[in-house]
Amino acid sequence: MYQFDNLLIDENIVSTYFACNLKKCKGACCTFPGEYGAPLLDEEIAVIESSLEEAKKHLSRRSIKVLERDSFYSGKPGKYTTVCIDKRDCVFVYYEGDIALCALEKAYNEGKTRFKKPLSCHLFPIRVGNFGGKYMYYEKIDECTPALENGKINKISMINFLTEPLERFLGKEKLCHFIDFCNNCKNNI
Ligand code: SF4
Repeated sequence: MYQFDNLLIDENIVSTYFACNLKKCKGACCTFPGEYGAPLLDEEIAVIESSLEEAKKHLSRRSIKVLERDSFYSGKPGKYTTVCIDKRDCVFVYYEGDIALCALEKAYNEGKTRFKKPLSCHLFPIRVGNFGGKYMYYEKIDECTPALENGKINKISMINFLTEPLERFLGKEKLCHFIDFCNNCKNNI
């Protein structure tokens, strides 16, 4: 475990090679079985609401029905999550072939909205917990095995692969310090 400012960091984040390979994992993190979808920050609710109409253009009738009948989120302040359909797909999932993708991200990539996707999805498989202080850890799951292989073969570290969401989480200035810090830690392993 490392400490960077007030943040505790799982050493696996520093030492692991990781680069998603969607052709192999099929976007499994968007379709995990379970009652709840992706964790949402309170402030993400409004910005997702303003992206809904564009996201809907990529969604199935099934998802749109859920969005119009219920909502895209459930929970309470501090504990919001996206809604899952049939305890599996996130309500924002659409498919390209057999790969599950995010309709929010699709709309963003087309330049139609200003919100890419929830930070928790963007950072995954890094998670941020709170145990009296923030703790950033690597959630290792079988579905990401192709990403471990891909990262190792192409020598892409998890930190490098996730630079964009880490910048979102830490801020631009802190990100540079964070990368230096991780590189130093890595050299000392
Ligand atoms: S985080 Fe894991 S499951 Fe999600 S896209 Fe990357 S490799 Fe696939």
